[in-house]
Amino acid sequence: MSRPPRVFVARRLVQWSMAGVIVILGIRFGLWVTAHMAGRWPSVGRPPGVEGFLPIDGMLAFRHWLLSGQIDPIHPAALAVFLGICAMSLLVAKSFCSTLCPVGLLSELLGRLGIRLVGRNLRLPRWLDLPLRSLKFLLFGFFAWAVWVAMSPGQVQAFLESPYAKMVDAKMWLFFAHPSRLTIAVLGVLVVGSIFIRDLWCRYLCPYGALLGALGRLAPFKVTRDPELCTDCRGCTAVCPAQLKVHEMGRVASIECTSCQDCVAVCPVEGCLAIRPPLVPRRKRLWLRPAMGIALAVGLYLAILLGFRVTGHWNTSISEAEYHRRLPEIYSPLYTHVGGMAMTEESAGLVSQAPKDEPTGVPGRAPASMK
Ligand code: SF4
Ligand code: SF4
Ligand code: SF4
Repeated sequence: MSRPPRVFVARRLVQWSMAGVIVILGIRFGLWVTAHMAGRWPSVGRPPGVEGFLPIDGMLAFRHWLLSGQIDPIHPAALAVFLGICAMSLLVAKSFCSTLCPVGLLSELLGRLGIRLVGRNLRLPRWLDLPLRSLKFLLFGFFAWAVWVAMSPGQVQAFLESPYAKMVDAKMWLFFAHPSRLTIAVLGVLVVGSIFIRDLWCRYLCPYGALLGALGRLAPFKVTRDPELCTDCRGCTAVCPAQLKVHEMGRVASIECTSCQDCVAVCPVEGCLAIRPPLVPRRKRLWLRPAMGIALAVGLYLAILLGFRVTGHWNTSISEAEYHRRLPEIYSPLYTHVGGMAMTEESAGLVSQAPKDEPTGVPGRAPASMK
């Protein structure tokens, strides 16, 4: 039976740390949402980091920021995470996928389980693989068109301020906490399929991966092979999860490469394969040790998040009292949208019932720290 390829400890440590952070965020957010929905004041504060799971909101906020210079005050952390993810993939090609993305870790673990169970991961024939890989670009193209073309700047702003957008993080949590049968079936197919076909979701369907892969093409730091040191053992190609012929490449510029460095881990010649800056592929002193490549990418991501925090763009401007009023009625038509056009109190016919702006918090009930 084949063994799964070796992974650098630093990368696994970062992946598991991020997975741990996400589990904690999910539990805290779940406690917070369910308490408000039940009409109770939660015992925990809302963790802004959950907005990292709102990539469309992040993309809309990015466009709004570019056009108006204003940072969306409702989900500022969504913009911070979106920019952080794009920036780290722009620096070290597509590195978010191999270091911080929890779905990437899950896909990797399922693929390794497949190797343990049946000895290898299936590779689809090229005539099927190529068109299927284009699906994620079609999906990303659709979202990019919706955000950048179909909506006017005014519509983007109206959407970001709509009741739907205000509650979209809670709706996202409910989607996964109370999945429909269809959701369970789709997730089941993806999970089981990923055991046999490595990175089934990431390789063929993830629109975020399509964006990060395209940005990664511009990255200065990429895995690079030194042909003078290479012994042509082809170990790198055998372990590459992106199915690239690494042993034939100079700089690995493929959209599919996630800078995972599994190829680097298996290469028997020190300095032959490494993450290098451009134009200096053969000067051994200028390659990054695997942990340095990871630290560079993750450091940039954390620096961007820190920048948003220290400049006061991290916590939402929505008051705890407003959440307390809106969350119990989250299944109302007010919190829906049709084709990117979100409902408003007026269009939902609720304008007379909607209270005027509440003060931040309710004296004696909601601590200000929850905001
Ligand atoms: S392709 Fe998508 S799901 Fe997969 S690791 Fe990258 S961002 Fe995450
Ligand atoms: S080329 Fe190397 S770094 Fe890129 S995906 Fe393949 S194994 Fe990972
Ligand atoms: S593992 Fe290293 S030595 Fe072997 S083919 Fe790949 S780059 Fe060359």
